[in-house]
Amino acid sequence: MKSDDIVFMPYITTYGKPSDEYNKFMKQYYENHKYCPKCGSSSHSSTYVGYRLNMQNKDNYKDLNTCVCRQCGNVHTTHDRIKQFNYEA
Ligand SMILES: [Zn+2]
Repeated sequence: MKSDDIVFMPYITTYGKPSDEYNKFMKQYYENHKYCPKCGSSSHSSTYVGYRLNMQNKDNYKDLNTCVCRQCGNVHTTHDRIKQFNYEA
């Protein structure tokens, strides 16, 4: 299989070449999915599959790499991670 417009590399897989819009989206995405949903730790290990971002449909983007929390051992996907963890909850 050969394609000129798809690059198979972790986190930079996209249509065409990476754009500012793409970089901005990814930065925001990882800000929004930063913490373990169970304990709120940002420390984790993760698999590195590149999920393609469709610039026409960015809201449906899901990073489904498997994360293992280094704090509590919870296993979840990157998309399951949360932006803020409320310790008071
Ligand atoms: Zn955790």
